[in-house]
Amino acid sequence: MAPVTYCRRCLYPSTKPDLWFKDGICGACHSFDKRSDYDWDSGPAEFRKLITENKKNPKYDCIVPVSGGKDSTYQVWRVMEQGFNPLCVTAPTDQLTPIGRENIENLKNLGCDYVEISVNRNVRSKINRHAFFEVGDIQWPEHILIYTIPVRAAVMFNIPVIVWGECGQREYGAGRPEDAFIKYFDRRVLEEYGSLNGLRVTDLIEIDGVTSNDLYFYEYPDVDEIDNLGLKGIYLDNYFEWHGITNMVIAQSLGFKVSPSNIRGTIHNYENIDNYVHGIHDYFKYLKFGFSRATDVACNLIRRKLLSRHDAKMLVSANDGLYPSHYLDKELPQILNAYNISLEQFNQVCDDYTNYDLFKLDKSGNLLRRPDGSPALVSTFGDYHD
Ligand SMILES: [Zn+2]
Repeated sequence: MAPVTYCRRCLYPSTKPDLWFKDGICGACHSFDKRSDYDWDSGPAEFRKLITENKKNPKYDCIVPVSGGKDSTYQVWRVMEQGFNPLCVTAPTDQLTPIGRENIENLKNLGCDYVEISVNRNVRSKINRHAFFEVGDIQWPEHILIYTIPVRAAVMFNIPVIVWGECGQREYGAGRPEDAFIKYFDRRVLEEYGSLNGLRVTDLIEIDGVTSNDLYFYEYPDVDEIDNLGLKGIYLDNYFEWHGITNMVIAQSLGFKVSPSNIRGTIHNYENIDNYVHGIHDYFKYLKFGFSRATDVACNLIRRKLLSRHDAKMLVSANDGLYPSHYLDKELPQILNAYNISLEQFNQVCDDYTNYDLFKLDKSGNLLRRPDGSPALVSTFGDYHD
């Protein structure tokens, strides 16, 4: 394997899936630069026009998918501030935390209707377990349901416009350069970039006790249903400047609560606080690709000139990819217990999914580990991408 190289501006590595580079600068940084060409002054008017022209339901103007995070609180506020009446739709996270639930309850105070669609918990746990062993992603059900449930709700309630938050291809630089200009979220975006790791919904009926009837909400609606509705899944960051910290400040002013302590594996306390399995998911990203959530957050701050590359290296080295011995107030065995996974099984699957080319090994080929138990990276932001 070729040595890992890094973006000259941020800390994104060449191992990041679907990331492109040009002149040593990664796609996420290039996309960010392009955003200075946006005509932000006309964004709000375009946004209002699109929602008004596509209105079908006499009561609701659009759907806002909400999770219990800072961005969803901001999205709902923004839509209402622009004069619209959203229907908020929640697909609950895999293991919703008390603070996540509190933030959902807070969101209901903003003054709009709210529906929550929960799938069969027993079946979901089986899928969590299956995806953990099969593709190394314990959070797989959440990755698909947060997209399919709002689209199902759009069809059910005859509301054509869904207002998503930021476009991942723009913000995190995944995919082809032209995908930084994606206007609508649709089935292609879900299948290509939805972190499904090659596991398809149709594969799930191989799991003992799971039938096709259990999978209704996991399936993206049929093309006919989508066409009849005239679905338009738009991204708020195409019309209003998007900034995680600004969203957090606005959300906090509306009663959103951050975590009282820092979150393991990252460098702040206001994101990914609504699901206990985030830590496991992020750890697997580190094992597979050699970077994780602390890198994502630091890179966002570097691009916005809120953190230097030099300082970011220190924060990332100290926090990225830490062994997820606990997350918020829960210990790892407790989190795994919901899926009938033992600690021994967990550690074995970690090793199975580790890309050994990225980590230091002893003479016998065993992983050399950091004091927290996670493997130590070979590269330390040393080489720039050409
Ligand atoms: Zn970059």
